[in-house]
Amino acid sequence: MEKHYNYSLKKLNTFNIDVKAKIFTEVNSTEDIEALISDDTFLVNERLVLGGGSNILFTKDFDGIVVKIANKGITVVDEDQDFVYVKAEAGEVWDDLVDYCVMNNWGGLENLSLIPGQVGASPIQNIGAYGVEIKDVFHSLLAVNIFSGEKREFFPDDCRFGYRDSVFKNSEKGNYIIFSVVFKLKKHKHNINVDYGNIKDECAKLNITNPSIQDIRKIICSIRNAKLPEVGEIGSAGSFFKNPVVDYDKFVELKSKFPELVSFPDNDKVKLAAGWLIDKAGWKGFREGDYGVFPTQALVLVNYGNAKGMDVFSLGMKIIEKVRDMFGIELETEVNVL
Ligand SMILES: Cc1cc2nc3c(=O)[nH]c(=O)nc-3n(C[C@H](O)[C@H](O)[C@H](O)COP(=O)(O)OP(=O)(O)OC[C@H]3O[C@@H](n4cnc5c(N)ncnc54)[C@H](O)[C@@H]3O)c2cc1C
Repeated sequence: MEKHYNYSLKKLNTFNIDVKAKIFTEVNSTEDIEALISDDTFLVNERLVLGGGSNILFTKDFDGIVVKIANKGITVVDEDQDFVYVKAEAGEVWDDLVDYCVMNNWGGLENLSLIPGQVGASPIQNIGAYGVEIKDVFHSLLAVNIFSGEKREFFPDDCRFGYRDSVFKNSEKGNYIIFSVVFKLKKHKHNINVDYGNIKDECAKLNITNPSIQDIRKIICSIRNAKLPEVGEIGSAGSFFKNPVVDYDKFVELKSKFPELVSFPDNDKVKLAAGWLIDKAGWKGFREGDYGVFPTQALVLVNYGNAKGMDVFSLGMKIIEKVRDMFGIELETEVNVL
């Protein structure tokens, strides 16, 4: 394991923020990860486990060790009449896994097409899009406790998945490095989920009445490409905020003031579209210098070139304040701010 000092992270975070890590190293195998956690440099310094850097906003240099996870491999570990169990190493690019599974006609991941980042991070915030979250297809993961060196398998109940949430963002935050994740995917009779966003409209436009998982992937890729900043072109970390979940009384109060409010049922509560609130508060398309709010999706804060992480963060705080004043709603960041 080679260590680099004062190492630029600009190309390793999708916000393209120009910061440096005091120490940087890359791990390419489970053995590398095991060696790393018994290395003093890792234990005595502040640590950051880095996947694709697509859910992180750096506001300053990282005064510790950044470990880029780069172990690769996708294998079928089990199979029965209806399901295939696919294991992917943490360093696999998420969308390469989705592509591979869709090509093999294994159903379950297609609605999560084109989400940036790596497999190892997918359970951390229970990634979700177009009506599907990874908890819907998650079988288990293997991780190592960085303090005890103990390897542990986590099953769905152990992960305590919630909306953009899991045990790894709460009681186990910073305690584990994930080696690999196993997904339980359907070999046939796929659950085609077209209920979210404008997937149905796109199917109609293309005259598709019975979409396959391959059709769903294609449609979602084209919707996402049209709506979201392209990674590598414009810096962002996707949704900067979570959609707030409110109780029914609050929803009724807001709906009477703002009849066009965009919302979705969420068990006995209501989820509000944070993008709509931000747009209504006047921020959509805002730009100052190199930072701003993406014109086609108000949930996404962007770096158009050489913005500082702190500028983006301050903009986020101003948006939170305005939304609080206007709607009495407290937005929470989805992005990890460091
Ligand atoms: C344009 C764009 C669109 C996006 N769209 C979506 C979307 O639709 N839905 C969605 O849910 N997210 C979305 N995101 C956010 C992001 O892609 C996901 O959160 C993704 O899972 C982050 O993966 P990563 O590998 O980049 O993680 P990183 O940003 O590198 O890390 C995220 C967190 O996971 C931890 N971590 C990473 N790997 C490991 C590991 N192996 N073991 C332990 N901890 C680890 C890190 O320490 C950090 O806390 C989007 C981002 C962008 C830029």
